[in-house]
Amino acid sequence: MDESAPVRRKRLVVIGGGINGLAAAWSAWESSGRGPVEVILLEAGPEVGGKARSRRTDGWLFEEGPTGFLGGSEVLNGLIERAGLDPLQADSMAARRYVVRGGRAREIRMAPPQFAMSGILSPRGLVRLVGELWVPPGRDDQESVWDFAARRLGPQAADRLIAPMVLGIYAGDAKKLSLPAAFPRMAELEREYGGLFKAMFALAKLKQKGEGPTAGPAGPGAGLFSFSEGMQSLPIALAENASFEVRRGTAVTKLSRDRSRETWQLGILDAPQALEADAVVLSCDAHTSARLLRGVLPRASSELAGISMPGLAVVGLGYSKKSSIKSFPLGFGALIPRGEGFRTLGCLFDTQLFPGRSPSGSVLVRCMIGGATDPEAVQLSDQELLGITIDDMKRLFKLRDAPDSYEIVRWDKAIPQYELGHLDRCGRIEVDLKDHARRNPGLFLSGCHAAGVAFGKTAEEGWRVGELAGRQLFESARIS
Ligand SMILES: Cc1cc2nc3c(=O)[nH]c(=O)nc-3n(C[C@H](O)[C@H](O)[C@H](O)COP(=O)(O)OP(=O)(O)OC[C@H]3O[C@@H](n4cnc5c(N)ncnc54)[C@H](O)[C@@H]3O)c2cc1C
Repeated sequence: MDESAPVRRKRLVVIGGGINGLAAAWSAWESSGRGPVEVILLEAGPEVGGKARSRRTDGWLFEEGPTGFLGGSEVLNGLIERAGLDPLQADSMAARRYVVRGGRAREIRMAPPQFAMSGILSPRGLVRLVGELWVPPGRDDQESVWDFAARRLGPQAADRLIAPMVLGIYAGDAKKLSLPAAFPRMAELEREYGGLFKAMFALAKLKQKGEGPTAGPAGPGAGLFSFSEGMQSLPIALAENASFEVRRGTAVTKLSRDRSRETWQLGILDAPQALEADAVVLSCDAHTSARLLRGVLPRASSELAGISMPGLAVVGLGYSKKSSIKSFPLGFGALIPRGEGFRTLGCLFDTQLFPGRSPSGSVLVRCMIGGATDPEAVQLSDQELLGITIDDMKRLFKLRDAPDSYEIVRWDKAIPQYELGHLDRCGRIEVDLKDHARRNPGLFLSGCHAAGVAFGKTAEEGWRVGELAGRQLFESARIS
């Protein structure tokens, strides 16, 4: 490459100001030489953050989306440093988690005797659970999470432990989600070690020796983190500290290719003129990407449109009466399997996780309702949502009093469901994109539909794609 070649300023546009888009814009900016390429991030809403939205009112901090992120992500750590923030680690109490069985929240204890005594599984279910040690590795690479759990741990553990965990992470249906797509680590552990218990023992041994990965079956086990003013602090600070332009209230409605100019044209809601770009990174949700790609990449567009994203409502309940506060157990929260007689999927005890989530002497409990097993719930009125969640909490924790305050948020399209066949679907999207890129370079797809729905995973994916886009444009700017 000729280092003295003249540099023509090219433009890269990132669509979407969630954590994925901000990560993409930062890495594109840095990998394109911090200046030779103009980077612009367009966010439809009035604020950046996407699903990470934190509302502070009178001493309450209501997280409308993610509660926290798992530590151990280099990309996320790098972004936090760029944002100039200090992450907060959740109280050690966060390790205490509950699952409802027989109408009661029971703590999931890791020590075998305590787990056996918890009453989560029957004696027969416990024997079958231990039998996991002798179950040979499976051969089906299209297995659902529930089928995998039933095959390895027994149907009871699949229903009472794994299905509620899937509700907690994806608001998803364990019978529909693909194991290798939704929980690749579990599939990997079975492949590498021959089973989950064998993997646990082997990893514990390595840990004792100070070696090996710090990851459990569901992902890295490096603790839960957030920020004093909540999860949105990170996207907000990333936008504030950015050297590239961030345009809020700018919804992209159309994407097309101008073949004569060899550029991308972005139609913007209420703007008289299209915005021209040499490269575009789509960091919005799968359905918006599908809409924008309809005229450009019809096959990838229809694959993206086929990803289910059921609605989910989050209801925050604030309790200030002493008797109620004492009724909640200490810990992270409780998951509620279907069939237990509660419509709420689970609840989180935010006050116990991070300081400053509620005024002193009060408790903030966030309830999730809806998701893949109950998609209509998001259409319920505020009164109905409140009635259901308040009643569920009352019955579950034997509360005498109603909450003193509440907050409700509805996500019409909450979390993409990595259903059976998801990896093949992502493969087809990838092939379509690559095919198209040969003729029309500069189109990049990111977002949380493929590489993980967790906050840290989508940040990593945004960073990866932004870096590719930035480098490509930097190179093409130098040779044009
Ligand atoms: C209720 C809930 C709880 C969760 N809890 C956790 C948790 O505790 N831990 C965890 O790790 N993960 C959690 N998640 C998942 C995680 O929060 C999300 O997967 C992640 O934040 C998604 O980030 P993203 O940037 O990929 O997408 P989004 O946050 O959805 O961002 C997409 C952005 O694109 C913008 N956009 C859309 N269309 C356009 C357009 N046409 N033009 C311009 N901009 C557009 C949107 O306004 C949005 O800002 C939770 C999710 C939900 C819904």
